[in-house]
Amino acid sequence: MATNRTLTMIKPDAVKAGHIGGILNQINEAGFRIVAMKMTQLTQAGAEAFYAVHKERPFFGELVEFMTSGPIVAAILEKDNAVADFRTLIGATNPAEAAEGTIRAKYAKSIGENAVHGSDSDENAEIEGNFHFGGVEQF
Ligand code: ATP
Ligand code: MG
Repeated sequence: MATNRTLTMIKPDAVKAGHIGGILNQINEAGFRIVAMKMTQLTQAGAEAFYAVHKERPFFGELVEFMTSGPIVAAILEKDNAVADFRTLIGATNPAEAAEGTIRAKYAKSIGENAVHGSDSDENAEIEGNFHFGGVEQF
């Protein structure tokens, strides 16, 4: 994936609560172009692989259980400075600390169930994009 792309997931809490449309609208209004998208559900093995970097953390089991608990929407987003700008748009991991108007401030319930994922580097954006989408699915 090019360095102007990031990978997002609308997490199970936000999908269940009916926030797909609201979140995608905010993403579009912020100037991101959707270049790949699907609704899917992570398997246990898939979630463990996606979040492998956190496997020694005390919340890993809870994180995998939550991320496999229902459907998600995965998407690749394109914009200049996509990784950093998208993390600004979503706000802090803990919604109690997320800036007003950010996606997590508006839609997240807790530090664990926090509505959206955003890649944390260009390198991980590419790995995560390829985790969810084959080459012909990335426009
Ligand atoms: P994400 O990677 O989902 O975009 P992030 O980069 O803001 O979130 P990370 O530190 O990568 O935060 O943590 C990954 C995910 O693990 C968080 O989004 C959250 O769902 C969960 N998580 C992080 N810290 C905690 C915690 N202290 N307790 C429970 N869950 C947590
Ligand atoms: Mg992260």
